Amino acid sequence: MSLFDLKGKAALVTGGNGGIGLGMARGLAAAGAKVAIAGRDARKNSLAAKELGNAIALECDLKDEKATRALVDQAAEKLGRLDILVNNAGINIRKTPQEYTLEEWHEVLDTNLTSAFVASQAAYLHMKRAGGGKIVNIGSMMSIFGAAFVAPYGASKGGIVQLTRALACAWARERIQVNAVLPGWIDTALTRQARKDVSGLHERVLARTPAGRWGAPEDLAGVAVFLCSSASDFITGTAIPVDGGYSVQG
Ligand code: NDP
Repeated sequence: MSLFDLKGKAALVTGGNGGIGLGMARGLAAAGAKVAIAGRDARKNSLAAKELGNAIALECDLKDEKATRALVDQAAEKLGRLDILVNNAGINIRKTPQEYTLEEWHEVLDTNLTSAFVASQAAYLHMKRAGGGKIVNIGSMMSIFGAAFVAPYGASKGGIVQLTRALACAWARERIQVNAVLPGWIDTALTRQARKDVSGLHERVLARTPAGRWGAPEDLAGVAVFLCSSASDFITGTAIPVDGGYSVQG
């Protein structure tokens, strides 16, 4: 359907070598986009690129500003253009607030929030050149809610929503739409670790989620295609929960 057609478009998905990023990359590729994925682990990158088919794997530590700017330029060069940026790479360190070192705080903020700002800045020029673009930032239920063990993660994900709104306002006239996706509890490497760290989490998620199940990375494919296609050209600055109803259940 042409409304959702991404043929001729080029996309960079950070953290696209697994979990939610790969779920979104699969959607974008299925809709016809040429995709570049980026992560630190070269082996995971090349496996994911192989699975996606016509995709490019780029190694990058997004905590590094210069490397992040170079990544965006490299993706644009190798794909021939850049229309879509999905800022998905993210980590969590679970502790009580009083236990964090400043180094841990920066590690989470740099990975989850600063990298999205830097990559978006770098992508802006390419998108302007292409006559427009789509940026999708990945937030979390922690963009909305609080929790005892997520001080830097929650700060980064709250920041993602406000960054999304600021970029959306700044770049709307240039036909660059910037939106956020707020996933609920999705079964990935990140949350498999959370289930190890937090006892009873699995059952609590099932009980608290109206859909009665954990999400799968594939559950994020549709929203990625929607927010990266012309179907969403008049939507910018919003934050869409993809959470099986988690955020609306009182
Ligand atoms: P995964 O751990 O499966 O994936 C994280 C991805 O980020 C990996 O591809 C990883 O690649 C990449 N990454 C992490 N740090 C860096 C770095 N410094 N530089 C480059 N790449 C990096 O987690 P999810 O798929 O679950 O998470 C993806 C996003 O979704 C995150 O932003 C997360 O906060 C968010 N999210 C997840 C939820 C869930 O329930 N799973 C819920 C809400 C939000 P590599 O290791 O190769 O660097």
